[in-house]
Amino acid sequence: MSQQQLEKTNNPLQKELVKTLDYEQLMNCMRCGFCQPTCPTYQETGLEAASPRGRIALMKAVADGIMEPDESFQKQMNLCLGCRACEPVCPSDVKYGQLLEQTKEAMHAHNKPPVAVKGLNRIARPVFMKHNRLLRMSKLLQTYQRSGLQGFARKKNLLRWLPPQMQMMERILPEADSQGVVNRAGGRHFLAKGEKLGTVGLFRGCIMDVLFTETNVNTIRLLTESGYDVIIPESQGCCGALFAHGGSDTATARDLAKQNIEAFRDAGVDYIASNAGGCGALLVEYDHLLKEESEWVEPAKKFAKQVKDISDLLMRSQRWSNLPVMPQGNCGTAESSEPSETVTYQDSCHLRNVMRASNGPRQLIRRIPGIRYKELEGADVCCGSAGIYNIVQPDMANSIVDRKMDAVRETQASIILTSNPGCLMQMKVGVERDGVAEQVKVMHVVDYFAEKMLK
Ligand code: SF4
Ligand code: SF4
Repeated sequence: MSQQQLEKTNNPLQKELVKTLDYEQLMNCMRCGFCQPTCPTYQETGLEAASPRGRIALMKAVADGIMEPDESFQKQMNLCLGCRACEPVCPSDVKYGQLLEQTKEAMHAHNKPPVAVKGLNRIARPVFMKHNRLLRMSKLLQTYQRSGLQGFARKKNLLRWLPPQMQMMERILPEADSQGVVNRAGGRHFLAKGEKLGTVGLFRGCIMDVLFTETNVNTIRLLTESGYDVIIPESQGCCGALFAHGGSDTATARDLAKQNIEAFRDAGVDYIASNAGGCGALLVEYDHLLKEESEWVEPAKKFAKQVKDISDLLMRSQRWSNLPVMPQGNCGTAESSEPSETVTYQDSCHLRNVMRASNGPRQLIRRIPGIRYKELEGADVCCGSAGIYNIVQPDMANSIVDRKMDAVRETQASIILTSNPGCLMQMKVGVERDGVAEQVKVMHVVDYFAEKMLK
């Protein structure tokens, strides 16, 4: 858009987008369409505008002044899951995630946010900024779940006033634990068993620490058994993903990033272990998040390099790497006897597309003796979780997870494994919607590894 055109437009959002959108990235898209088949919203709608190529074209049209960022433009941006499945397949290396972030940030600055996002910001900001507050909040949930209140509310159908998606969330929410991993595991420093491979700082997360405390405890057990000292730095905070990925409050995300960089630097660790794809993806991009603050760029780069998915750290250990691997493909077991169960794995988009760690969890699963592993068709396609997407875009999220369950049925798996709390809960939604909650269990890979491989 020329300077003259820019001055003429009365649309403040358009002015903002012209300033913030990275035009070079928009030009990088050569419209080949290789990204189209990977996109869940394109798969569901078949619409060009709901595809990565279409969304980039819309952004460029706005930046060129050909169209205004009207309701239909914003609808397509909001419908995007931000799963970034379109990035690894792109031959031009278009940084779609960054373009979406620039667009969402501008939209948030100029629009009234949806009620769910507004509510989240109001409640989440103070709670997620201080871990102690989060633990106290989880006590409320724990009381609701354990005092009989939950049973009463369900029996009397009191939850019928909630929107259907919130009713479903209430049903599948794991049991809250107000102690957190430090209290549950009994300390902040744990010693490696056997030969030491290094010192790992555990990124305990927020949701992970109150709804998946056991997974955090199992992460420590797996790491120490595999030869790592583990430290849980006290002053670490939330990764900031809830604030950064929607573009709703990047200033808060930046503050949290600085807090985490300092916490792990002061702990003097070799690696930083992440067991949640959504958190890990932001941690490895702290250098991008802090790119405008020159004094933080180098520390952020160093931090990002240290961040590893738990599967990566385990695969470095001989305890795992020396184990026999089940045959490649959809069948087989390392043992000659009948496998005890069939498991499948749903990728976490951010683990796969941002941390580029899709192989590690599969390699580990295929080393567990006595089970059958079946690859899930379309495992690389988002499950519809995407932060709070399944709450603000329930129709699309439900269509995506229903399609996912068709593929799960094909595998005949009784266990679905995932590497991210959001994906785990969304797959539980899928299992509930499919009416197979009694037959199919959804687990975090860490808990499955601990159950199968630790005494
Ligand atoms: S794959 Fe990359 S270059 Fe091709 S249309 Fe998609 S974003 Fe554009
Ligand atoms: S981020 Fe995901 S939903 Fe959005 S355009 Fe890319 S593939 Fe499609």
